Amino acid sequence: MTVETVAPPVAPLLSGLDARLPALLALYEDLHAHPELSFQEFRTAGVVAGQLRAQGWEVTEGVGRTGVVGVLANGPGPVVLLRADMDALPVREETGLPYASTATGTDPDGNEVPVMHACGHDMHVTCLLGATAQLAAHREAWHGTVVAVFQPAEEIGGAPAMIEDGFLDRFPQAEVCLGQHVAPAPVGFFGTRPGPVMAASDNFRVTLFGRGGHGSSPETAVDPVVLAAAVVMRLQTVVSREIGPAQTGVVTVGSLHAGTKENIIPDTAELWINVRSTTPAVRDRILAAVTRIVRAEAVASGAPEEPEFSPLNSFPVTVNDAAATAVVQESLTEVLGAERVFTLTQIITGSEDFGTFGTALGVPSVFWHFGGADPALYAGIDPGSLLEDGLPDTVPANHSPHFAPVPGPTIPLGVTALLAAAAPWLTRTSTPGA
Ligand SMILES: [Zn+2]
Ligand SMILES: [Zn+2]
Repeated sequence: MTVETVAPPVAPLLSGLDARLPALLALYEDLHAHPELSFQEFRTAGVVAGQLRAQGWEVTEGVGRTGVVGVLANGPGPVVLLRADMDALPVREETGLPYASTATGTDPDGNEVPVMHACGHDMHVTCLLGATAQLAAHREAWHGTVVAVFQPAEEIGGAPAMIEDGFLDRFPQAEVCLGQHVAPAPVGFFGTRPGPVMAASDNFRVTLFGRGGHGSSPETAVDPVVLAAAVVMRLQTVVSREIGPAQTGVVTVGSLHAGTKENIIPDTAELWINVRSTTPAVRDRILAAVTRIVRAEAVASGAPEEPEFSPLNSFPVTVNDAAATAVVQESLTEVLGAERVFTLTQIITGSEDFGTFGTALGVPSVFWHFGGADPALYAGIDPGSLLEDGLPDTVPANHSPHFAPVPGPTIPLGVTALLAAAAPWLTRTSTPGA
């Protein structure tokens, strides 16, 4: 895109972005090659803080353990919060890229694990640092204050850690929160929707108790392996039998562990369960059903003890404010073109903790997804058809060891989207949407 084709008032904010791209590409490759697990983003936070300071931002480090907050006050006007997340995942990278990660980290259980930016948070950091550089370089083109939030630990819920660390009192209070996520859609695709945009997620561990014994004498034992198997199968009836066909819910048992050897009946079995839901009523219904089934199956097996539930983390439904989303969509459409900006027809069953900021501040938030996948993977596919048909399973998705956004074309679009989304507030003379 050229600046000349961009509608004012965003154009002045984009001036000089092309010249910045080689440095942003190098930054992306560096971040990608050095991923860090949740709440261990020490190197990443250092890179972020260094760049923000060099750009002229006021920087606070260590917010919510490893978070970084930049503030740029540029005269009277609206306060806008822009957010990127920084953490990577325990995934062994298999992209074969020249800047692929070979990093390892230590997970919360003390195990050494491979680490990869398999969710694209390195793209989010790069795009936000590009946007902060543009804002700092073109202060004549906007007024107000920008709070740039580089959040730790999105994968396990780091936003609440920043709020608990006094975020609301320590930084200017924004009137709108804006954030984005790179997706396996083709580069140039932008999608969002008013109202619920991403699902709630509840994650917990269940320990089932049996009574161990010799594999040859099951009558002397209570077998937790059989109990666990019954629980896993029965849980799959929750969504199909207890949730309406027009509603959205997911129950996944992502981890199931019991025993050490074929001829020993173990004492316990452990399930790690992930529940997604899109409304509070569906969430309550699913969680109640899961709890009831786990307990009842334990009784049915004659388990000597009640099952134990330990919560891991939970994320609320991400809700886009309708009026603010309309403002953002209109600006994205003006700047990027109507052929690139789509209204999602369905909620995405992935989850986010971005909404924590808007909820805590009591202000609107808007979250959108932008494509990072090689357009060659979408040859012959109309981007509009993705809304109804979903993404093809031939394109590696977030959390896959093959997830590989193409940074060259994705970075300038991600930077542009952040600036275009913020511009209606930062350049306004009256209330946008009023
Ligand atoms: Zn993720
Ligand atoms: Zn993510």
